[in-house]
Amino acid sequence: MEFEVPYRYPDHLTPEVADLPSSPGVYVFHGDGVDLPLYIGKSINIRTRVLSHLRTPEEARMLHQTKRITHIPTAGEIGALLLESKMIKQDFPLFNKRLRRSRQLCSLRLSNPASRATQVPQAPEIVDAKAIDFSKTEHLYGLFNSHRSALEHLKNLADDNKLCYTHLGLERSTQGKPCFRSQLHLCEGACCGRESVAEHHARLLACLAEMQVNVWPHTGALGLIERYPPNEAHDLDLHVVRNWCHLGTVHDVATAKALARVDAHFDADAYKILCKPILSGSVEMVAL
Ligand SMILES: [Zn+2]
Repeated sequence: MEFEVPYRYPDHLTPEVADLPSSPGVYVFHGDGVDLPLYIGKSINIRTRVLSHLRTPEEARMLHQTKRITHIPTAGEIGALLLESKMIKQDFPLFNKRLRRSRQLCSLRLSNPASRATQVPQAPEIVDAKAIDFSKTEHLYGLFNSHRSALEHLKNLADDNKLCYTHLGLERSTQGKPCFRSQLHLCEGACCGRESVAEHHARLLACLAEMQVNVWPHTGALGLIERYPPNEAHDLDLHVVRNWCHLGTVHDVATAKALARVDAHFDADAYKILCKPILSGSVEMVAL
C-alpha cells in the first residue's frame, strides 16, 4: 500500500552527495534492496541536479526510501542521455515515469509526396517498423507506439485542419459526393470539389512536415565524439551509431570500427536523442 511521506530535508543523504561531481553523467538513487534502483536520471551537472531532487517535496517518498546515490560519469550530454535511456529500459526503476513500451512502433507513410502532383495522392498508410526499415524509408511522418495511436493522430489532424476523412482513408467515399463531415463544415470539401485534391494534399503535408522522420544520412556508421575534461579516466566517449541505432559507447576508434559492423535497426529512443545533434552537425563526428 502506498503511504504519504511528509517532506523534510533528507539529512541521511548528505554524505552521499559529498563526492558527486559537477560534470555530466547518470545518477542512480538506490533503496534498501541489493541493487534495485529507485530512480535513474541524467544531467550535465550531476551534483546540482541531485541536490535539487533533495529539495523537492513531491519526491519525499523516494527520498525517504533512498539509502545510497551512485553515479556514472560521461564525457558529455549525449552520452548521458544514451546511458540513461538504456539503463531505464533495463532496470525499470520504481520512481521513473513508466515509459510505455513500444511493442509496435508505427509511422505514417505518404506514398505520393507533393512533388508528383500529376498523380492522385494516396491516403497515408500506417506502416510498422517490423515490416520496413524506418532508417531507410522516405516520406515517413511521426513515431507512434501503436497502430491505434497513429490512427488517432491522423484523425486529430483531420479534425483540427478540416481535412477530409475520405482522402485520408479514414472513411469510404462515394465519388464526388460530399462526406458527412463536409455537410457539417468540418471538412473543407476535397471530397466534393470545394477544395482541390492537390490543395488538400499540400495542407496535409504542411501539417505533417515537422514530424517527418529523417532517413539515416550516411552509408555506414558514425562515431559521435564527446571529450572528457583533462585528467579523467578516458579521453573521450565515442558513441557508435548506425541506422539511428546506438550500438554502444567506446573510447577508441579501433574498437568503434569493430562495433560499427554489428547489425543495426531503427530505434526510436536513439533517434529522438541523436537526430538533432547529427543533422545539425553540432557534435564532433567521425565516419567509421
Ligand atoms: Zn470531405
